[in-house]
Amino acid sequence: MFAGPVEFLKGVVAMSGLPASDRIEVCFAGRSNVGKSSLINALTGRKAIARASNTPGRTQEINYFTLGENHYLVDLPGYGYANAPLDKVATWQALLKRYLSGRQNLRRAFVLIDARHGIKSVDEEIMTLLDSAAVTFQCVLTKADKIKAAERDKVLAQVRGKLAAHPAAFPELILTSSEKGDGIATLRAVIATLE
Ligand code: GDP
Repeated sequence: MFAGPVEFLKGVVAMSGLPASDRIEVCFAGRSNVGKSSLINALTGRKAIARASNTPGRTQEINYFTLGENHYLVDLPGYGYANAPLDKVATWQALLKRYLSGRQNLRRAFVLIDARHGIKSVDEEIMTLLDSAAVTFQCVLTKADKIKAAERDKVLAQVRGKLAAHPAAFPELILTSSEKGDGIATLRAVIATLE
């Protein structure tokens, strides 16, 4: 589906470092520990591809991967670290804002939500930012293997309720487990259909 290699391209710390907008781009955002690296690894079929993003020094960068011949996969730093220094957070938010509102080939943001916990206030913050930047975003629920059906349905209802308030939200949710492989093909297919 994504012909060609999946490769780490570069880590970007300023708008001037962004690669040319010559490919369709999708980005992944989520609270730290939500399972973003695991999901990206499962999606690309390459173990450890997203490890680059988690190495010290790369965690505050916008990390670019080439996905096949036609896409960029962008790994945004995890947010919601309890003790992140405020000046770093401010710098990062400014870059994020500029990136989201200025990147014309960005077709969709995937906002990762832990299927056990639902949407938290830090997730709402990024969703509000995506609304103002008019970037369509889709929620991907992670670690679905960790919850029972009844609990899952409760979280799904919470997520749907909260998304109703966000004009940029794409209504369909994708339920995934990187551990079991659930939902990965769906996510891959969604990315492949974006133009
Ligand atoms: P990140 O900080 O968002 O990149 O999160 P990681 O991908 O490093 O995952 C955080 C923790 O959750 C790790 O211990 C993973 O093994 C675990 N994890 C991630 N995805 C899944 C999943 O689908 N199922 C289960 N059971 N655990 C997961």
